[in-house]
Amino acid sequence: MKKMRQEVSLKVKSKFVNKFKKGYPLIFKEAIMNIGDLKEEGVLVKLIDEKNKFIARGYYGKQNKGYGWILTLKENEKINENFFGNKISKALNQRTGLYNDPHTNAFRVFNGEGDGIGGFTIDYYNEYYLINWYSKGIYQFQEDVIQALKKLVPFKAIYQKKRFAEDGKYIEEDGFVIGERGTFPIIVKENGVNFAIYLNEGAMVGVFLDQRNVRKRIKDQYAKGKTVLNTFSYTGAFSVFAALGGAKKTTSVDLANRSLSKTIEQFSINEIDYEAHDIVVEDVFHYFKYAVKKELKFDMVILDPPSFAKSKNFKFSAGKDYKDLLKNAIAITKEQGVIVASTNCATFDMNKFKGFIHTAFGEMNEKYKILEEYSLPFDFKTIKEFEEGNYLKVVFIQKI
Ligand code: SAH
Repeated sequence: MKKMRQEVSLKVKSKFVNKFKKGYPLIFKEAIMNIGDLKEEGVLVKLIDEKNKFIARGYYGKQNKGYGWILTLKENEKINENFFGNKISKALNQRTGLYNDPHTNAFRVFNGEGDGIGGFTIDYYNEYYLINWYSKGIYQFQEDVIQALKKLVPFKAIYQKKRFAEDGKYIEEDGFVIGERGTFPIIVKENGVNFAIYLNEGAMVGVFLDQRNVRKRIKDQYAKGKTVLNTFSYTGAFSVFAALGGAKKTTSVDLANRSLSKTIEQFSINEIDYEAHDIVVEDVFHYFKYAVKKELKFDMVILDPPSFAKSKNFKFSAGKDYKDLLKNAIAITKEQGVIVASTNCATFDMNKFKGFIHTAFGEMNEKYKILEEYSLPFDFKTIKEFEEGNYLKVVFIQKI
């Protein structure tokens, strides 16, 4: 017998009651009168108004600044394996097009609050599933989620990553849950291009699935005959797509030592001669200086920095420093060349991002034209009640 989950009642300040009733999914401190009553992560919480009337039910789990997520606005809905199963099943149905796509077998199948339950995501990698848990609280429902998934889909194995160490970081472990252990890397496909994926080591598996449409666009529309600088390149995903799209040459720059072998691996599994391309292990900001000194100019410069990064000599925070990053890129982009500016920073929106672009070009006395914009692909489902979840912003900018 499973033990009953405890439930804590949380009183919502009157000015926030409507926000929750309208579907805002995140439980936040300022809205709650008795947040101190929360002790153990994973308990259910009942949000009530000042007259003790039911508003919503959720769970307590600390994630960034949040205290958990709303699960249902229906007072009688039970939170059990069935509840999780229904949400996951609905999410799976919405990804049928991707499951049936013969050229792609890596994508997101469950995107947290976008699919109705905040705090965890499920990704599909060619018959393997990876669950990311973002709080101790949601991890208390692990068994319900695994059992539900097991009944819904066939798989070779399920892996997981716990992203809830004390500092909000990732807990290093092998991550195997059930099925048969994989031999890594496994090779997955995205629009016909291969990726080497490691589900059992480190916080990152080898690819960021949310850039699928951007990669395809670069390959199909922009790369042919061009010189491409890919900064913050990680495993070189953008470089590989550019090379396959006919780029004259790609240059990948990343500070992490692992990026060299990982990028060679990505090129090799796609039968591209990596020696015809440059792979530079270096601080991007150093590289910019080097490029200016050597008067290097590129047809395309891709910027995909983390929201925050610290290296020996530089500190980068997207909200503060993206404008300067753009200025560095503008300086080494040819006339008529294209800058692909990307950010996954959730603390500013597309308008503000375009503001950085406008200011950067202004300060460089250069003119530009925005060619196109991207946000998250449909499998990274978001809801309008939670704009913060729609974090990805990518702008293709032409220097004119
Ligand atoms: N563009 C990549 C993902 C980038 S992840 C892709 O499409 O897959 C962020 C990367 O930035 C990490 O690999 C990290 O090593 C790198 N990084 C962080 N700070 C850096 C710096 N100052 N110079 C170069 N690389 C940096």
